[in-house]
This record gives sequence, structure tokens and C-alpha cells, in this order.
Amino acid sequence: MSLLIDMRNPEWMTDVSLKALVSSSLPNVNIVCGPPELTMPEIIMATFTNTFDTSILQYLPNLRLVQKVGAGVDSILADPKFPTSIRVSRMSSGKQSLEMAEYCLAEVLAYQRNIRFYQKNQIQKDWQQYAPLCIKNLHIGVLGLGQIGRKVAQLFLKYGFKVSGWSRSSKNIKGIKSYTGHDGLETMLSHSDYVIGILPSTRETDNLIDAEMLKNFKSSAIFINIGRGNLVVDNDLVDALNTGVLKAATLDVFRQEPLPLDHPFWDHSKIAITPHVSGWNVDDTIMDIAQNYLRLLNNERLLHEVDRDLGY
Ligand code: NDP
Repeated sequence: MSLLIDMRNPEWMTDVSLKALVSSSLPNVNIVCGPPELTMPEIIMATFTNTFDTSILQYLPNLRLVQKVGAGVDSILADPKFPTSIRVSRMSSGKQSLEMAEYCLAEVLAYQRNIRFYQKNQIQKDWQQYAPLCIKNLHIGVLGLGQIGRKVAQLFLKYGFKVSGWSRSSKNIKGIKSYTGHDGLETMLSHSDYVIGILPSTRETDNLIDAEMLKNFKSSAIFINIGRGNLVVDNDLVDALNTGVLKAATLDVFRQEPLPLDHPFWDHSKIAITPHVSGWNVDDTIMDIAQNYLRLLNNERLLHEVDRDLGY
């Protein structure tokens, strides 16, 4: 039995460096790096990040589990060439969740202390002062209260913001008001000064933030999306910003990545862009790969197995 590591993202993590980490927990397992070029019946589990290349399935007749190194599994679940008989698991990193919460806090504080305006004013040598907004009067609405959304909500709560969250199932998290359903979403949006999207891309969440839904936002609201780009309809977001339905947006995720050079987001004065970097380090959960390999062998419950019907 063997494990295949086929990451194809050397800027982030090479196959060899991941193998070195995982080998320490699986000293007696033959770990194979890189795309297979001939049939390998011994491979029962394969790791990947970003996009899974289904063309390698022809070489892996006994593959039982695909492990995403990262959290989002939308691309693999949406691929019609990926068989439903192969199980999928993801990662759930406390370290990455905190990084993403810090990213959101940095953005909100940059707006709240007018840093973005001062950056523009400096170019004009313009000495204009703006009063900072008072944190205790600001309301944060978090879309998605999973591993990451919950951490985001709790960090803002710690800093004195009022915090609400929206999820599929109702939550009981101290100090955080929980909303569910369509009506709950509209209510939460209507009083949020900052709306933070940290939802997976699924049938139900794709295009959720469209022109109609944007009408529920406060015109002074700022939208931050760190989950998946499919959450928002790009043209509707641009229209909302152009017509004053929404004040500004910070986007870390996009429908197409890298964001195409001719995309209107790049030049929009009310949009701040980062290249899918809000969460980076997952090293605290890298050993889940080894754990899942052993659990698969022993027919035990897998860590963070994806529910294919729900899509996350
Ligand atoms: P989780 O699976 O832990 O949480 C998902 C949350 O979304 C849950 O609260 C879930 O509700 C909620 N949700 C899902 N579908 C719906 C729906 N239809 N209506 C309302 N709420 C819904 O995921 P994570 O928090 O770990 O990650 C979220 C996403 O963030 C990932 O799927 C990935 O796409 C993205 N991501 C982006 C990164 C980046 O660098 N920008 C890095 C890591 C992840 P419930 O709790 O009721 O199930």
C-alpha cells in the first residue's frame, strides 16, 4: 500500500518537502512523489492542492481517498470526471484560521482608522484628518461560522466589535448572534458595517451575493471575501459599488485565479485585491495526512471527510 503526493504548487510546498514531513509519521510507508506515469495499483490515497488532475486516475486503479492539502474542495467535487466512489477529505488548520481572522481584522482596522484614505492622500501631499470610527459601535457580520468563520467572529468579539454570524445550522457561540436561512441572512446584512464572506463554494452559496442580495447591505458597508470568489456575482458587485449600494470591497478570492488582467476589479477605486493569500500556513495539520492514511488502512473514521451532498 502506498501514498501519492502530487501537489503541483512548488511555490507553496514541494512534493519532496511534504514527503519529508509526512514520512516522519509513516516511516514504513512507501511515499511516491509527482504525477504517476505508469499504473500503480499500490496507491490507495493521493494528496493534492488547488486542482486535482483526474487524468492520473487511469494509473491509480485502487485509489480510495483523495486528501486536499487545504480547505476548499469545490473544484474536485464539481469535476464530472471525478468518481463518486473515491472519498475526499480536507484540512482544518487552527493556524490558518487565525491567519485569516488576522487578515480580516487588519482590513477592518485599516478602514476604521482611514489608513486607505491616508495612503491616497500622501500621494497628493494632502494633510487632511479624518475621525476614526468607534469600534464598539461597529457591527461585523460573518457569512459562514465553520472552522475559519468562527475564529474570525471570535477575534472581532475580542476587539470589542458587535458580531453576528450566518450559517446553515444555528450556533450557540458566546457573544455572537447566530442567524440562519434567507430571512436571517437579510436581517444580518441590514445591520452589518462589515460583511465577511468565509463560505465554501457549493450549489447553495454560489452567486448568493447578487444584485438583489446586495440591496440588503448598508450603503456604508464594506464587503470582505476570503472564502470563494463564486459567492459574489462580479458584475453585480461592480454595479453596487458604482451606484453607492455598497461602500467598498476587499477581495482575496476570485472566480478565476489568477484574476484575468482585463477584469474590472483590478482598476476599481473601491476594490482592494490580494492574491488568495489570507490563509497560508497549514503546517499544524499536515500530520492529518499521515493520520488519514492510517485511518483509511484500519477502516476508521477519517479526519475532516467531505460530505459530497452538502459540498463541503
Ligand atoms: P467549514 O466547512 O468548517 O465551514 C463552512 C461554514 O459555511 C459552516 O459554518 C457552514 O454552516 C456554512 N455554510 C455552508 N453552506 C451554507 C449555506 N448554504 N448556508 C449557510 N451557511 C452555510 O469551512 P472552513 O471555515 O474551514 O472554510 C470555509 C471556506 O474557506 C473553504 O471551503 C474554502 O473554500 C475557503 N478557504 C479560503 C482560504 C484562503 O486562503 N482564502 C483558505 C482556506 C479556506 P454549518 O456550520 O451549519 O455547517
